[in-house]
Amino acid sequence: MTYYSNTPSKNKSWIQEVMAEFTLIPVAWLLGLFVEERSNTIAPCPICGKEKREQGRNRLPIGLTKDLQGWRCHACKASGDVVSLVAAAMTGTTNPKDWRPVRSWFFGNVLQSEETAPRRQAPRAKRKPVFNHDHQHIKEAQLLWDRCEPILDHPRAACWLESRGFSVEEIARAEDLDLCRVIPLSGPLPKWARFGGYDWRTLLAVLVFPCFNSKGEVVSVRARLLGEDKRIPAGLKTLAPAQRGMATNSVLANDLGKLILKTGKIPEFYKQDAASQLEVVVVEGEPDFLSWALQFSDADLFAPVVFALWSGGWSQEIADRIPSRARVVARTDQGEAGDRYALEVYESVKERCDFFRWKGGRCD
Ligand SMILES: [Zn+2]
Repeated sequence: MTYYSNTPSKNKSWIQEVMAEFTLIPVAWLLGLFVEERSNTIAPCPICGKEKREQGRNRLPIGLTKDLQGWRCHACKASGDVVSLVAAAMTGTTNPKDWRPVRSWFFGNVLQSEETAPRRQAPRAKRKPVFNHDHQHIKEAQLLWDRCEPILDHPRAACWLESRGFSVEEIARAEDLDLCRVIPLSGPLPKWARFGGYDWRTLLAVLVFPCFNSKGEVVSVRARLLGEDKRIPAGLKTLAPAQRGMATNSVLANDLGKLILKTGKIPEFYKQDAASQLEVVVVEGEPDFLSWALQFSDADLFAPVVFALWSGGWSQEIADRIPSRARVVARTDQGEAGDRYALEVYESVKERCDFFRWKGGRCD
């Protein structure tokens, strides 16, 4: 039996476009429905409003097909595909007379279609100098970061952080410290906010971290995936902009890190105590970055600088902003890649700083 039966007008090309781009989980999430990914079920049913199945056991009413393209409510038997779920949520029926609101939900709000993309299709923009080109992407990244929303407004993001072991207080502090935000759930995204042709939002790559250059300016963003998606290669957890050069020459940084990048100097308060040595912790991955950045409070005078790096992100320019005689501790992951990153950091600071490589309990 197929669940894909009741969206008419399948011949319309926008529907095919939507079907090719979307699976039900991100769509349900964007519609504000609760999604239980373990069982591929969602609630409440936008048709009957039920939050549980009739024959109990607390299961959510709507089950999804394996390919995440079809759904069926076990309470009212309504069923359909991605398009009819949006129709149900917007119009109360899976088969509305007027499909325009459904179409505009996808194209106006979610899909980055060519029409809604902010200008620059640029047949006339021939061969800009490289600097301008980069500058454009930096501006886009800054605008996107400005439009991102607080994590606490998005239960899904908060849940993901909880699942990574962060307490409610820590999540609130991550928000206070503005370490990450959630991608805006409507409006166009920059062209480079895509992976394999899919918009970050549709892949649930929605937890956004700002990347700072050697002047402490936001020049790019990275998007952490909150769920698994068959369109993403296993092991890939964070998406970088799909634009050459945007993932280079930048790091994630806590407040003190941003300060160091901006000034290149040890902050005044460190100088009050000659014995204190500025510590710079370099980690990889967003969860490690958050745990380190959250481990110290604002009131902690001697909190370390925390930077997070990724392949191609670290640069001599960034290293040069670390004040001389700082103590640099590479806490990158164990293993070949982590060692390579640590070596890269070591090479960039060895002349001026004390360097330590953290290896599961010991520094060397
Ligand atoms: Zn129902």
